Amino acid sequence: MVTHYEPYADSEEEAHPFCRTKSSENTLTDNHWDSVSCKKCLKLKDKAKAYVEETEKHILKDMQGMVDFWKKEKTLQS
Ligand SMILES: [Zn+2]
Repeated sequence: MVTHYEPYADSEEEAHPFCRTKSSENTLTDNHWDSVSCKKCLKLKDKAKAYVEETEKHILKDMQGMVDFWKKEKTLQS
């Protein structure tokens, strides 16, 4: 059994390991590199980290955009 790395594991959805290997016998882990045993995933570790960082930056940016939007709405309503 191989443990893959998946940055955003979602039990409701099909597994998407970062190395893109497809097999129903694989287990996935999110952000626990200690338990990742897939060589391909480990090789992509730097890439995966950069990807997660980039994604999180975008999420934060989106959230800031939301806050700005709410503030604007509030100003308009009052
Ligand atoms: Zn893998």
